[in-house]
Amino acid sequence: MKLNSPLQVYKYLPQTNCAECGEATCMAFASHLIDRSKKIDDCPPILKENFKKKYLELQTLLAPEIHEITIGTGEHAKRIGGDDILYRHQLTFFDPTALAYDVWDTMPENDLVERVNKIQNFRKFYVGKFLKVDMVAVRCVSGDALKFAAAVRKVSETTKLPLVLCSFDPAAIKAALDVVKDKNPLIYAATEKNWIEVSELALNYKVPVVLYSSDLDKLKSMALTFREMGIKDLILDPGTYPQGKQLKDTFERFIKLRRAGIKEGQKDIAYPIMAVPLNAWLVFKDAVAASYWETVLASMFTVRYGDILILHSLEPYAMLPEVHIRDTIYTDPRTPVKVAPGVNEVGSPTKDSPVIVTTNFALTYYTVESDLSSNKINCYLAAVDTDGIGVEAAVAGGQLTAAKIKDTFQKANFEFKDKTSHSTLILPGLAARLQGDVEDVTGLRVMIGPPDSGRIPGWMEKNWPPKPK
Ligand code: SF4
Repeated sequence: MKLNSPLQVYKYLPQTNCAECGEATCMAFASHLIDRSKKIDDCPPILKENFKKKYLELQTLLAPEIHEITIGTGEHAKRIGGDDILYRHQLTFFDPTALAYDVWDTMPENDLVERVNKIQNFRKFYVGKFLKVDMVAVRCVSGDALKFAAAVRKVSETTKLPLVLCSFDPAAIKAALDVVKDKNPLIYAATEKNWIEVSELALNYKVPVVLYSSDLDKLKSMALTFREMGIKDLILDPGTYPQGKQLKDTFERFIKLRRAGIKEGQKDIAYPIMAVPLNAWLVFKDAVAASYWETVLASMFTVRYGDILILHSLEPYAMLPEVHIRDTIYTDPRTPVKVAPGVNEVGSPTKDSPVIVTTNFALTYYTVESDLSSNKINCYLAAVDTDGIGVEAAVAGGQLTAAKIKDTFQKANFEFKDKTSHSTLILPGLAARLQGDVEDVTGLRVMIGPPDSGRIPGWMEKNWPPKPK
């Protein structure tokens, strides 16, 4: 049985409402355990001896269907797996897909360092946060264990990102592990041929390991064997074939694995899955075609059910869609993405600058903000608290009202007579029907802007500054 409601969880808690967890009640804490915003260990009383049995039961009953694994250490450590559902709308997906970009041991040292820096420095600002990538996958291409270990050493000196050590040669993996054994790297991979040696490495060095086979029965059998040996941090690679019928088969294997883990409760195979979109480079000789198809595969296996991807292309046209689709899939559908309500400056507004209203739906807010700043329009931009709902829906649903708009300026201590020379407010075109109400409630002059922020520059040319009444 898995616990799915706060009431079920509450029965296992101390029920004293002592608030040591930072929540006012045990029931509130229970709901945070369900949505995973708190951990059981955040409740100090349950860690005491008299609650030990309940603590252990709760741990089992709250454990995700798909085993959760941590790769790396410290602030860059990355958790993968940990999902309970097949479809995002059923709850939310946890632990976003890890994106690992490759380097290889035959690269000249300068190129190696430059590529690692490119990987770790990649970032894209998007709706209030930076989208980044997670890991460096070091591939042994030379066939030389010492050369591989030297490359791994250089990479680990250059970045704190978690590492994936890629070789089918146990001697090469061992040489690399000797260099970075304290960094909890992921080793790739155990196969039908080398699994005995690789299992010993995983056991001795206590590191997570990828099992590779495109035959699901063999993969399951390997997972069982490793589990019986006491190795529980496993990742399954069922093979990623980049084209045609084999791609269809690959896709089906991913779905079978995840259904078996979640729907059919097959614990023996309920592990995170690895996809290797990099394999596109094995079939496409042209770099643009390979990058393009790698990105298609990455998108496909982010959606269904890749928990970690090994990638090659560092071209922005490949990386941007990869980080964006991951962000979209792993955004919690239960919580609209919001910005803090308030009145913000865009550029360097003066008393003659316009005051523009939008909502605190992050996507809307940052789109408007970006359209204004990229067109060098200095202004005040008010984000009204609509619970993260966009303009049109918020007007229809009553979240964007004249009273809310007035409230936003009041809470921000924004006095029009002090801050502006015009006492004028610009509403989005999609909120035009609020014009009369806002004028009545605020006493301001209200102008109606365009229906989308991309047209604000053209609108400004025709309408700003406002003509005297
Ligand atoms: S610390 Fe534990 S016992 Fe205290 S309120 Fe929180 S959940 Fe309840």
